[in-house]
Amino acid sequence: MTWNRRVSASLAALALCTSNLLVATAAQAAPGDNLAWNATATASYTSSWESLAAVKDGVDPPRSNDTTNPRWGTWPQTGTHWVELTWPTAQTIRAVDAYFFDDQGGVRLPSAWRVQSWSGSAFADVPGASGYPVAADRYNRVSFTAVNTTRLRIQLTSNGTSSVGLLEVKAHTNPPTAPPSPGWNPPANLVSPLGQVWTHQEQTYNNLYGFRNYGWDQVFANRGYLNVCVRWDSSATVSAAQRDQVHAALTRQYKKWFDLMVGHNAWPYSEVPVRVVGWAVRDRAQLQWSDTSVDIYVNNIRENAPQCAEPCGRFFNQSGQYPNCPGGASRHYDQSLWLTDGFGGGAGGDWGQRMGREYFMNNLNAANMHILLHEIGHTFGLDDFYDWTPSGVGGFLMKAGSASTITEFDTWMFRDWWRHLKDRYGY
Ligand SMILES: [Zn+2]
Repeated sequence: MTWNRRVSASLAALALCTSNLLVATAAQAAPGDNLAWNATATASYTSSWESLAAVKDGVDPPRSNDTTNPRWGTWPQTGTHWVELTWPTAQTIRAVDAYFFDDQGGVRLPSAWRVQSWSGSAFADVPGASGYPVAADRYNRVSFTAVNTTRLRIQLTSNGTSSVGLLEVKAHTNPPTAPPSPGWNPPANLVSPLGQVWTHQEQTYNNLYGFRNYGWDQVFANRGYLNVCVRWDSSATVSAAQRDQVHAALTRQYKKWFDLMVGHNAWPYSEVPVRVVGWAVRDRAQLQWSDTSVDIYVNNIRENAPQCAEPCGRFFNQSGQYPNCPGGASRHYDQSLWLTDGFGGGAGGDWGQRMGREYFMNNLNAANMHILLHEIGHTFGLDDFYDWTPSGVGGFLMKAGSASTITEFDTWMFRDWWRHLKDRYGY
């Protein structure tokens, strides 16, 4: 177990550490898709005043009794009904998210549902289904063994006396970690552990609400982006291609967190660009490019490592003003990505993330750079779990060593921070 701890008076609550190197996971395809968007929808029956197209219009409903957006419903028909999605070419599908319509009147939640795929000659239940939850006011997810098909049916069975309906359906090749949730609506089994985590944080960090340099504060100070300085704490050289790969990897990993916020609980950004605005090195000759796409800071040493100029750093200028930044305020940096030769484990806080230079450069194309993901979690306030585990949850990213990807529990801890801080920003 390797520790690194970097404590500053202003961020004791955030100077957190990680440990337990995990083996990087194999590359996967891009996350987060919705194949329903490109499908043609048909149905066994649609009430004349309802809209079949509503099920794939991309609108995340506010609640099952949605009186605002178009819906698909079968009133007054009862029994079993289905919506079918058809694509011109076969699609690989591993999960479906279904948001049920329930108007508290003639259309109620189904008593059961299932997903069926077309084999070329018949419809059959998808294999290996994880289960078919039926809950109001949320997406209900079923995951299954991948099917390759041009036609998929979402079949709903009524409770016998009511009709059924759907507000939205999503079909995924690579499902996002957790189904989208427009409001604060965690799965029932996570409500208690999430409450334990938040109470623990309130009891542990006496400045939890007074601290004003969480990653959230940085995003909102910029109105929707983050700037990063690379502290190249290494004797290695860097090519222009490697420079761009570092930026791309950081962007890709950051996107995993921010994608979890899209459409959730009034989060205003569909994406949060991450820009690398500066590189700090000991010797200019280590950087093998001559263009001016990033600012370069040479031999500005702090903590025995190169850093970008302090007048440009948010950590040193928490008012958010950068009058003495040589490149101007637009070249300020909110965080440092600190890559150190031979450094084991990682560290993260409001100042950024630190990990081994070799680890980062050897995992540029990894699907999940789990140390970086964990340290970004700290930048956004998430805690460590060295000495306790909330009840009823298994491995998760922020419990170092127990998971190598962002889990559903990590997702809701992240969203819980937004829930508690969002009024700062007028949401
Ligand atoms: Zn940690």
